[in-house]
Amino acid sequence: MPRILIVAPNWIGDTLLAQPLFASLHRRLPGVILDALAPDWTAPIMQRMPEISAVSRTQFRHGELRLKDRWRLGRELKQQGYDQAIVLPNSFKSALIPFFADIPLRVGYVGESRYGLLNVVHKLDAKRLPLMADRYAQLAEVPGKPVESQLEATRLRVDHANLLITVARLGLDRSRPVVAFCPGAEYGPAKRWPVRHFAALAGHLAARGMTVWLIGSDKDRAIGEEIAALATLAEGRVINLCGHTDLTAAIDLLSAAQLVVSNDSGLMHVAAALGRPLIALYGSSSAEHTPPLTGDGPPARLVQFEGLECRPCFKRECPLGHFRCMNDLTAESVLREIAAIDSEQFALRSE
Ligand code: SF4
Repeated sequence: MPRILIVAPNWIGDTLLAQPLFASLHRRLPGVILDALAPDWTAPIMQRMPEISAVSRTQFRHGELRLKDRWRLGRELKQQGYDQAIVLPNSFKSALIPFFADIPLRVGYVGESRYGLLNVVHKLDAKRLPLMADRYAQLAEVPGKPVESQLEATRLRVDHANLLITVARLGLDRSRPVVAFCPGAEYGPAKRWPVRHFAALAGHLAARGMTVWLIGSDKDRAIGEEIAALATLAEGRVINLCGHTDLTAAIDLLSAAQLVVSNDSGLMHVAAALGRPLIALYGSSSAEHTPPLTGDGPPARLVQFEGLECRPCFKRECPLGHFRCMNDLTAESVLREIAAIDSEQFALRSE
């Protein structure tokens, strides 16, 4: 039975967009065992993927080399006898551990000139493969053989016991329908819908009898506080949970939402993988590059400012200063998108 080590991406969203590759490996190699080597902050995503057997966590921070530690980890992994490694990040560092582990086949994109570290080397044709998910799926093919775009759905397991524990710990009331907002975006402010728009939308939804949970990391705590403070029309029905959960609890809380409104961020991909009806807001990025992979599941409405010449610029901060791609997406326009999602089918209701 072949054993493959996946070196996971450094971003939550990218980790989910790699899931079609894992599904494809299982189809091609029945009985294959896929283990993952993942940084602490994406490991919970890998642990919830049905295709992944075991996850080893790494403690390397962004940009850290720590050559000796990588060598040591590589030698430990050698004992596992992997037949192949697939290295998803493009950095030189990320290809070192499979090399130190003497894994015979080491697959990945050239990235930072990784000839030698990798021995099955793909060259990225970014125009032919605009979708991130297809770029990863390409790595299951022989280099040069085009991949067939599948865009199958991502999916994560939910831990229902952990959901109940988290709800109790945070004292959350689930008697009303819950809409989850994910107002952060680690990449930068050019991907974040303005807090005043989130607050205005929260007011509209609270008036229809819904509770709004703000979900994000500790880095999003201040954004959450600002939204809750601005949402004066929401009558206390906006609960800032940013920074109050780890990623595992955030996954389970999102699974309990009737609707998720999210920036183009890792949690947006998590919501899609949980099969939640989703409003995805795109600013400087593009739905043509990283759409949520919902398959045949509940709908995702992708909201982006069409016809704005500077879009998508893919910058972390707006280089033009006006930030029209997000400023001009009003709460009312997002509300119209929500209305377009079948209210009966997805249990959204008004008082
Ligand atoms: S340049 Fe345009 S697309 Fe980029 S952040 Fe500014 S408004 Fe948005």
